[in-house]
Amino acid sequence: MRPRPLARQHRYITWLSLSLMSFLALMVLIVYESRWVYPEIQAYFSQTGNLTGQQLATRSRAYLQDAQSELLIDQPAQAALDAAIINIELAYGLFDVHVYRRQYECTEPGLVSLNRVLAGLALREFDRVAVVDELFAPIQCLTHIEMHQLDQRGAAINNFSESTRQHNQVLTYSSLLIFVMGLVFWWLHERQLRRTDRATQDTFEWMQRAMRDPLTGVGNRSALHQDVLAKQHQSLGLILVDIDYFKQYNDAYGHPQGDTLLRQLATLIGKTLNDEAQLYRLGGDEFAALIFCPDTETLKSYCRQLIEGVRKANFAHPAHSDKKDVTLSVGGSCFVADEATFPYAYEAADKALYRVKTAGRDGWQVTEGA
Ligand code: GH3
Ligand code: MG
Repeated sequence: MRPRPLARQHRYITWLSLSLMSFLALMVLIVYESRWVYPEIQAYFSQTGNLTGQQLATRSRAYLQDAQSELLIDQPAQAALDAAIINIELAYGLFDVHVYRRQYECTEPGLVSLNRVLAGLALREFDRVAVVDELFAPIQCLTHIEMHQLDQRGAAINNFSESTRQHNQVLTYSSLLIFVMGLVFWWLHERQLRRTDRATQDTFEWMQRAMRDPLTGVGNRSALHQDVLAKQHQSLGLILVDIDYFKQYNDAYGHPQGDTLLRQLATLIGKTLNDEAQLYRLGGDEFAALIFCPDTETLKSYCRQLIEGVRKANFAHPAHSDKKDVTLSVGGSCFVADEATFPYAYEAADKALYRVKTAGRDGWQVTEGA
């Protein structure tokens, strides 16, 4: 069966909203990452003190510069001298770092200089200008360390930003790809469904057509069998209808007119029976009707109505042997629908019809207790 348009529309909406939801979820993830996670990491990196390598060098350099200032005072007082020694010792402590020794060649000579200065200061044997001058080499080394550490930090941040940007880009493109692939799969799936629907519909239409009499549009013999099987165990009445002297009608009016009469009679019989009844054309000028039949009286009443209906319609039949209008012979039987009982019911209705024919036609008979 072809799916109802509303059901299909509903399916479209479900698919579309599902793929949109997954796409949105991915986008939220990306936005979260780039708006909150990434700046936080960036903020962490940019805080002074987080990369201690640079900070130690900065402080150490500051202590040495303080010591230089203290030593440059004309005739330094004992307090200033002590402060200079402390500052150089502090600077030494911050300078004497394993990483610096490993990474920067100037560290070792710088520390040796500081040791020498400290030794001179301790013995009070020093030339102020020479000491201040000697401190420049470690200061220069520390400045170099600072700058290099800052560059390293900048490079780390840049690397991080770049890799995050690339990561986000990959995430965006892959989510887009997933979305597009989802749409393509959905489209392929829908196309397949549509094809299957169409094939089912075609098959269904062909089956319907195979069950119809093309001339009158009512069901054919196969449809009658199918309907009997579909109504198993129900009390049904089978009515067989045959046109009297139809051969002569054809001879008188021609086959096309005979076809028209067949169509007119199909319509008339259909109207005479109630909505629940089904009409079939078994072939030639023979029709069959299947009715709901709680008792034989109902069957008789239908048969009577059929005969009277055709009589009232007054379809002209100039070649009729004893009437001037078209008449019918009708035979009926009641049965409980079943694959096994139907042939007997058919035979009984046919016998009744035959009795009408032999009795002079234009009448009806039923076979009771078939
Ligand atoms: P009876 O009263 O004994 O039924 O006589 P009859 O002439 O009707 O005899 P019968 O039922 O055997 O004749 C059926 C005729 O129906 C024979 C054939 O010419 C005609 N016929 C069969 N199929 C068609 C059809 O599709 N169209 C037309 N116009 N005539 C058909
Ligand atoms: Mg006939």
